[in-house]
Amino acid sequence: MKQWSLLASTAFVLVAFAAHAGTAPSFGSWGFDLTGEDKSVKPGDNFFEFANGTAVKNMVIPPDRTNFGAFIELADLSEQRVHGILDEASAHVAGAPTDSIGKAGAMYKAFMDEAGVEARGAKPLQADLDDIRAVKTPADFATLLGRGQTGYQASLFSMDIEPDAKDPTKYAINLGQGGLGMPDRDYYLSVQFADKKAKYAAFVTRMLTLAGWKDAAAEATRIIEFEQKIATLSWARADRRDPDKIYNPMTLAELIKTAPGVDWVAFFKAAGLGSPARVVVGEKSAVIHIAALAGATDIDTLKAWAALHLVLNAAPVLSKDFVTASFEFNNHLLQGQPEQRPRWKRGVAAVEMALGEAVGQAYVAKYYPPDAQAKMEALTHDLRDAFRVRLSNNSWMSPQTKKKALEKLAAFDFQIGYPKKWRDYSTLKISADDLFGDSERGIAFEWHFWVGHLGHPVDKDQWDMTPQTVNAYNNPVFNEVVFPAAILQPPFFNRNADAAVNYGAIGGVIGHEMTHGFDDEGRKFDAKGRLSDWWTPEDAKRFAELGKRFGAEYAAMNVLPGAHINPALTMGENIADLGGLNLGLDAYHASLHGKPAPVLDGVTGDQRVFLGWAQVWRAKVRPDAARQRLVIDPHSPPIARVNGPMQNIDAWYSAFDVKPGEAHYLAPGDRVKIW
Ligand SMILES: [Zn+2]
Repeated sequence: MKQWSLLASTAFVLVAFAAHAGTAPSFGSWGFDLTGEDKSVKPGDNFFEFANGTAVKNMVIPPDRTNFGAFIELADLSEQRVHGILDEASAHVAGAPTDSIGKAGAMYKAFMDEAGVEARGAKPLQADLDDIRAVKTPADFATLLGRGQTGYQASLFSMDIEPDAKDPTKYAINLGQGGLGMPDRDYYLSVQFADKKAKYAAFVTRMLTLAGWKDAAAEATRIIEFEQKIATLSWARADRRDPDKIYNPMTLAELIKTAPGVDWVAFFKAAGLGSPARVVVGEKSAVIHIAALAGATDIDTLKAWAALHLVLNAAPVLSKDFVTASFEFNNHLLQGQPEQRPRWKRGVAAVEMALGEAVGQAYVAKYYPPDAQAKMEALTHDLRDAFRVRLSNNSWMSPQTKKKALEKLAAFDFQIGYPKKWRDYSTLKISADDLFGDSERGIAFEWHFWVGHLGHPVDKDQWDMTPQTVNAYNNPVFNEVVFPAAILQPPFFNRNADAAVNYGAIGGVIGHEMTHGFDDEGRKFDAKGRLSDWWTPEDAKRFAELGKRFGAEYAAMNVLPGAHINPALTMGENIADLGGLNLGLDAYHASLHGKPAPVLDGVTGDQRVFLGWAQVWRAKVRPDAARQRLVIDPHSPPIARVNGPMQNIDAWYSAFDVKPGEAHYLAPGDRVKIW
């Protein structure tokens, strides 16, 4: 099952890092940086601007980034720390190390051996390219797709092994749509990306040429026609968020019968799965039709498509001509990033991909303050208490659904800092002079790790983020929320800050993650993490109506010329932001135990909670990257993550004296109260 995080996946957000920040940034004398406010803006007209305007105006996005802000500054810090760990580990590498951190150091050394990587050029690709050239039959092609799980070969289908959504005590094989070379089907189908798509053919030609593929320009035309068809068959991201729609279990025989375009027996065999008894198909119609399309497409086009995707996948670990070509299209053209990231930053990212927990173990030993765990545990309990009170007082839910909701809340598990047990990398072979091999073996290692879990009871100690990641997530099938060590730092969790700021920031984040268990996706999972309908139809209907009203508020926001927030794509995150901020505020009030909140520098307690939340989203995004995010990111843009929840919370109106006529004023009856 997919997880719901605080922000888009690390690969997407932690794209690049500024080199300037040597220490953690400071945030005023009590946790909020007042100098970043823009007092010329009324809070009710635009709270994001009021709280963050001056800071954002003065913010310069580093040239190797697509965005910048409080999140990124913290990610910078994490990355610099990992850099230090890897520098040290790589300095002592000789031969093939056997311990985890030694392997991380060796792989980093392999990445930093730029001369060696350049000298090898396209050579590392040759074995994989030969495999593609050797394809003669549909079974050969299916074998190639199956091998995509264990290296850089491409697949037309996504596949992973995860707890079964309806029986999360067991693992299931999940099969879904795939096959596109651009970030989303909208890049093929939507007129807003027509200028980007027009440049895709030149990029495809360039990549095929670098790989030494014959007739590159002509093949590019055929590949793009093929991908264009895949795009029309693919599901929209918003539809892929519905856990019921993407749960379509089939036996292998049923899959073969329903989607006959691909030789599934060869596919699963090549993926090391033998003949699986059962597969959970996600985007069902897309899988069926993409399989049919593959069956109807000539083998030479399929091979050219496979060659292209091999190169796209492997580019980051190949020589400069590949890296530059990929950067110029994917980062520069599509996201507006002016400069390539320095080599060391890309090296850190590559090692994190293959040996994330090896690095994480070293990171935690060095940088996770021992008292953070207990403080964070206390906070999670405060937030859960606040949620219990809020749920109990909920006015739109029937007693029977409410009772089950409270049971689910009581069963929540909190995982904080780092996983209870670390990954064992002893069977992963890493060599300091074989970057491409290290990377492919890393991919294979990861896949075999999960294949090894099939048929065994689900292991709840596995994490989906590393401790050094500045993010958090909710895993619905485990009914758990996870807070990696690196997010437990300012401005999220500031041990020197006033309590109100912390309740607005990390309190809001904890509340956000818990609320995911009750958003439009999460509400479909019960206390045991099973996808099952525990709601009365009337409650489900009321919830949907509230969501519709809430989503309309986001759709109406002006965030980028000619582009809008997709309320269906962002519904879960928006609901989590509203719930999170409400819970942070409630927990702060409870923490006062009836005493009045102190006033600091003229700022009241409630005001500080709202400012604490706003400061977390102090960020600036390049326009092309913002446009891409509106299509692929389930999180709303920073300005909406601040103004969206605020305008629905009564306490915000009284805290900042927001009045009718101001841009974000909603009449009391129009404010949406979900959680
Ligand atoms: Zn989230």
